[in-house]
Amino acid sequence: MGRKFFVGGNWKCNGTIEEVNKIVSTLNGGEVPSQDVVEVVVSPPFVFLPLVKSSLRPDFHVAAQNCWVNKGGAFTGEVSAEMLDNLSIPWVIIGHSERRLILKESNEFVGDKVAYALSQGLKVIACIGETLEQREAGSTMEVVAAQTKAIAAKVSNWTDVVLAYEPVWAIGTGKVATPAQAQEVHSELRKWLQANVSPDVAASTRIIYGGSVTAANCKELAAQPDVDGFLVGGASLKPEFIDIIKSAE
Ligand code: PEP
Repeated sequence: MGRKFFVGGNWKCNGTIEEVNKIVSTLNGGEVPSQDVVEVVVSPPFVFLPLVKSSLRPDFHVAAQNCWVNKGGAFTGEVSAEMLDNLSIPWVIIGHSERRLILKESNEFVGDKVAYALSQGLKVIACIGETLEQREAGSTMEVVAAQTKAIAAKVSNWTDVVLAYEPVWAIGTGKVATPAQAQEVHSELRKWLQANVSPDVAASTRIIYGGSVTAANCKELAAQPDVDGFLVGGASLKPEFIDIIKSAE
């Protein structure tokens, strides 16, 4: 089963209206492979979602960077999956390491969020990844398997899930995983899905890599058989994001 290449841009907590307009205008002018070849999704901060959605080229889509774990209500500062659906925001990023580590989101909480967002019709980019300490202790697979297990425990239909493997030591550090390191974890994750979810889900679920992806390193990473695309932070704010999208070809 073919897995369409996926490139996500996580703008994190960055941007002004002027900067957002500039990024959108660069994206809108970029020559990239067709939607048959690559799915492109950019994720601005919540407040810019309507602006980006209305001004972005129609072949690129938008994602929120988070949503609440359940139905909305008395949860000050949160944004619910229903609200995103109401605004026709098709995607949401859940479980980014910055939320897991800084805001202490547990594996179970992330699993609940993924399941709730899917139940409301959103598609989910679910992030997993080990810290440097965990990698050096040799527990990378144990950590990402536990994170994936907490998602698998709550999710029965994986059609609308993209799994983003993002080693924490590579995020925003300039220390990209080598193609072999990324391939090793992606391949192990696929085996985990095969053994613990189903062979079909293992074959069809896109596993994308995130962590200091740039125009300079994306081609080699994209050539790995189990790397189905990227989640890009810093470089998604720059014109080189177009070159990263082109690595789909
Ligand atoms: C991210 O935050 O998802 C990310 C991959 O960031 P960067 O590309 O800047 O390392």
